[in-house]
Amino acid sequence: MSIEGGCHCGAVRYEANGEALTHALCHCKDCRRHSGAPMVSWTMYPEGAVKVTKGTPKIYHSSENGRRHFCADCGTGLFYTNVQMLPGIIDIQSSTYDDPNVLPVQAQIQVAERIGWMAGAHELPVFERYPPQIGSG
Ligand SMILES: [Zn+2]
Ligand SMILES: [Zn+2]
Repeated sequence: MSIEGGCHCGAVRYEANGEALTHALCHCKDCRRHSGAPMVSWTMYPEGAVKVTKGTPKIYHSSENGRRHFCADCGTGLFYTNVQMLPGIIDIQSSTYDDPNVLPVQAQIQVAERIGWMAGAHELPVFERYPPQIGSG
């Protein structure tokens, strides 16, 4: 299987080949701070399976060995590598896939650092688009 994806502005594009090793939603503080979102979905691949086909991501040293690769033009987070913790592995922010539905997510990790209200997010009222305007009717 081959999956394509890229950043918001299109300056960086990539291709992942073969089977992902895992697909998880990460609730860690590090992912949250870097993405500006309550959690980040990651697919894990052997490093050789992922190829940047357009542009060059900028690499941010987010911890001693953690490297977050992102588009320097639009800021989209794309990859994570860590030579010490995950040698030979590359994680892809799977929400940057052209079709994020192609691989179902399998687990939630780092819930020890999850924002408290995220635990009940699935119980919130849902709207196809936006809630009706308060006071408009
Ligand atoms: Zn971009
Ligand atoms: Zn994380």
